[in-house]
Amino acid sequence: MLSQFPATGRLHEAVFEELAQFKSTDVDWRSGRTNFYVQFGGDDVLRVAKEAAALFFSENAHGLAAFPSVQRLQADVLGWLLDLVQAGPLADGCLTASGSESILFSLKAARDWAKARRPDLVTPKIIVPRSAHPAFEKAAGLLGLEVVRTSLRPDYRADVAAMRAQICPRTIAVAGSAPQFGHGVVDPIAEIAALAVENNLWMHVDACIGALFAPFARAAGATIPAFDFSVDGVRSISADIHKYGFGAKGASAALFRHSCWRPSYAFAFDDWPIGSYGSVGLAGTRSAAPIAAAWAVMRYLGHDGYVRIARQILDAFEQLRSGLQSIDGVEIVGEPDTPVLAWRPRDVALGDVVAAMSARGWFVRTMTGPPAIHVGMITLHQAPVVDAYLDSIRESLAELRRR
Ligand SMILES: *Cc1c(COP(=O)(O)O)cnc(C)c1O
Repeated sequence: MLSQFPATGRLHEAVFEELAQFKSTDVDWRSGRTNFYVQFGGDDVLRVAKEAAALFFSENAHGLAAFPSVQRLQADVLGWLLDLVQAGPLADGCLTASGSESILFSLKAARDWAKARRPDLVTPKIIVPRSAHPAFEKAAGLLGLEVVRTSLRPDYRADVAAMRAQICPRTIAVAGSAPQFGHGVVDPIAEIAALAVENNLWMHVDACIGALFAPFARAAGATIPAFDFSVDGVRSISADIHKYGFGAKGASAALFRHSCWRPSYAFAFDDWPIGSYGSVGLAGTRSAAPIAAAWAVMRYLGHDGYVRIARQILDAFEQLRSGLQSIDGVEIVGEPDTPVLAWRPRDVALGDVVAAMSARGWFVRTMTGPPAIHVGMITLHQAPVVDAYLDSIRESLAELRRR
């Protein structure tokens, strides 16, 4: 046994001293020197999210009869998200705690839908491009599905011909990402959806990143291809509130074209001594805090506010992209549609660049396909340090070339 349960309590201050001490070894995300894990929409937005979360810290979203306020907040957030993805009047969905959970229930609905028509189906298969999030495998493991990953086109988007070639009698679903996390490109969603319609397959769009970015970025002038329910054949969409929605972590949604699939994510049971039990999504007891934070941030920002932030993010991303392009010996991998990218050095070893950038205080993550430095979701805390980032790249490359 490595650890013993604390035998006695400690004073409030002592507890927080310890917490602060632990935290001091973490990456300082506020400095903008990591572009992973934290999305920031400004100090005002963060304050709104934190205050709303604190206000609903103890309330339980499992007890909506006791907390009609939470029911209202949840219904509003869900309705607003459905509006953003151009859902029709019959659409429905559920708030979940993560993009992974949203993908899980989207695929569960796909499986239930397929099994209802073909009860004898063993190990149903889903086909996704290689760039799809690992949450597809996680969900498939829980649901008894097989995932087949297909090759990408040279521009890193899904190769629909390769997906088509994998369709077999066991295939129940196809999916694409908007955008995918690696290269920031949006898959050819309309083409994949057409393939789904043609073969009577479920089509899921993983818009964990894009659902709360693309609508506002388009209003700010960006061109991002359509990927929502306006595309015929799309049946479900995963949308993370805790990424470009700037909500508290623990907030995502699975959105469905039709409410008839609700039994796949709304659970009901009554054969136990307590009587009727119901839950939506995976958890029973659920924190109302991320729901309240999501509601408050959306209410505070409104469409206008999100567009204003999207414009700032697009500007910072353009500054990063053109800066990278101007550096001799640096190549951007593909042509990102959204503020996510990968870049690689041409004439020095990637590992050396990582070390040189890390030594300059940047939290650097790499990817494998192709080997490159991955710049996750750009948000507002990175905007002020784009030039410093570019300077560090120039310095690092110069240093390595002198060796
Ligand atoms: C983040 C992400 C997910 C998974 O969401 P979690 O909230 O981390 O579980 C799925 N797909 C894409 C494209 C993502 O960026």
